[in-house]
Amino acid sequence: MIRRPQPVPTELTRGFWDAAARRVLSIQRCRNCGQRFHPPVPVCSRCHCEKLRFDPVSGLGTIYAYTVMTEALVPGFAAGIPLVVAAVELDEQEGLVVVSNLVDFGGTEVPIGARVEVAFEELPDGGGTLPQFRFRDELIA
Ligand SMILES: [Zn+2]
Repeated sequence: MIRRPQPVPTELTRGFWDAAARRVLSIQRCRNCGQRFHPPVPVCSRCHCEKLRFDPVSGLGTIYAYTVMTEALVPGFAAGIPLVVAAVELDEQEGLVVVSNLVDFGGTEVPIGARVEVAFEELPDGGGTLPQFRFRDELIA
């Protein structure tokens, strides 16, 4: 069976993946001005400081945009089709968007602005921990 591609941490992204392994959503933040970045960057684009670190965030956000994969064009995704890929704007900062899958959801119509929370999935064979999102409980009813 072909597996889904697994995360390959780099020097720049290792803090994100190490935190995910502890089931913590951690986003890079400038130690000088406080601006948060995702995906991680080598230098703050706001103040040009190179001192950035990963800080935990709440894992809460809203659906900013989404798309639905209806064909497994990449090997390993067949079992998850249809797969909702969502851009989630985190509560901590306007415009701070994380793109991941929307899980525990069988539909394909996603309300923009819906509240979501991070949900961690352990990948098989020690492949890492994948931060994804699911609807907040209070909105499923
Ligand atoms: Zn900065």
